[in-house]
Amino acid sequence: MNVLVINCGSSSLKYQLINSESEEVLAKGLCERIGIDGSAIAHQPAGGEKVKTEVDMPNHTAAVKFVIEKLTDPEVGVIKSLSEIDAVGHRIVHGGEKFATSVVLDDEVIAVIEQCNDLAPLHNPANLIGINSCKEIMPGVPMVGVFDTAFHQTMPKKAYLYGLPLSYYEDYKVRRYGFHGTSHDFVSKRAAQILGKDVKDLKIIVCHLGNGASVSAVKYGQSVDTSMGLTPLEGLIMGTRSGDLDPAIVTFVADKEGISAEQVIDVCNKKSGVLGLSGGVSSDFRDLAEASAKGNEAAETALETYAYRVGKYIGAYAAAMNGVDVIVFTAGVGENNAEVRALIGQYIGFLGTNIDPEKNKLRGEEVILSDADAKVAVMVIPTNEELAIARETVRLVEA
Ligand code: AMP
Repeated sequence: MNVLVINCGSSSLKYQLINSESEEVLAKGLCERIGIDGSAIAHQPAGGEKVKTEVDMPNHTAAVKFVIEKLTDPEVGVIKSLSEIDAVGHRIVHGGEKFATSVVLDDEVIAVIEQCNDLAPLHNPANLIGINSCKEIMPGVPMVGVFDTAFHQTMPKKAYLYGLPLSYYEDYKVRRYGFHGTSHDFVSKRAAQILGKDVKDLKIIVCHLGNGASVSAVKYGQSVDTSMGLTPLEGLIMGTRSGDLDPAIVTFVADKEGISAEQVIDVCNKKSGVLGLSGGVSSDFRDLAEASAKGNEAAETALETYAYRVGKYIGAYAAAMNGVDVIVFTAGVGENNAEVRALIGQYIGFLGTNIDPEKNKLRGEEVILSDADAKVAVMVIPTNEELAIARETVRLVEA
């Protein structure tokens, strides 16, 4: 089965065409600046060069048309016609409490997803536009929605409730939802597979450290806690997001700076994290490592503060599960950044992790970092959210 995986943002659309039998990526690409001047599609067939074409894409429907055009192009395409796309899998950010698993997208389900829009006003409407555009251009092709929040729906009340009046939860559904669920699910299952164990026998802490970052406690295959909350702003210090804060800071800073609370939240989302902490050096960990090596103190502090927060969460989740068997690092920073992993390693040795500094130098591949006698296995596992979405799509379409 050929599955087109779509990840639609407000002005972008990422895609991968995956053959589900071989799990091979046949082609992938990105449409950028949709609805803005200078829109372009960058398309790359497997084993081929990336080709960037500037085309006018006034909306997402136009973008989906160009994706199909590229996929079926005689030169850079990988299929002959639209009929070779058997199913479409959509990444959807927020499923609220309504979706604890992936779903086949029919009109009824789409209407329910619309009801979750106020929980993720920046993301869900864009996801829905992508779904409707595909429906228009590929009528009759089955579509599946895979939610970032679904995997975390197994969290118990004590983990998802905030210490707020209960009516905020009852009336407005203010609670922890968590994100990156597809990645936490994929990586925890893969960890068990590599170790030759059943995920149902393991307590796993997954550190998804990318530009956005979250930690989860996966006990016996189910998410029991995670660091992101009602929105992706809570938890770890991220590229540009602050993570955990004293909520009183919002109105305090608004007052001092003469800006609105909404503007402060915008700063917390876009100008904080390691970017803010480093005094504006960068949100990219490669730039921070370089600046820190050259003696930039703020960059060094940003990295240390970042690692300390991750270390604290690992300690907290070991307590939440009353133990831990495996700690996994994944996503851009977790997979590639040996320096950051070493900094985090300083806080978790007490668990019996025995990280081998030589193995920790490896980047971007599956590896067990701890030695054979370690009480807790520390691993690096590259995440693959697109493949996870393709697998879910096939599972539901075949069912
Ligand atoms: P993601 O959101 O998962 O794509 O992760 C993006 C982050 O991963 C950026 O901060 C990058 O600095 C970091 N990253 C990606 N590749 C590398 C690398 N080879 N070495 C160090 N950091 C990397």
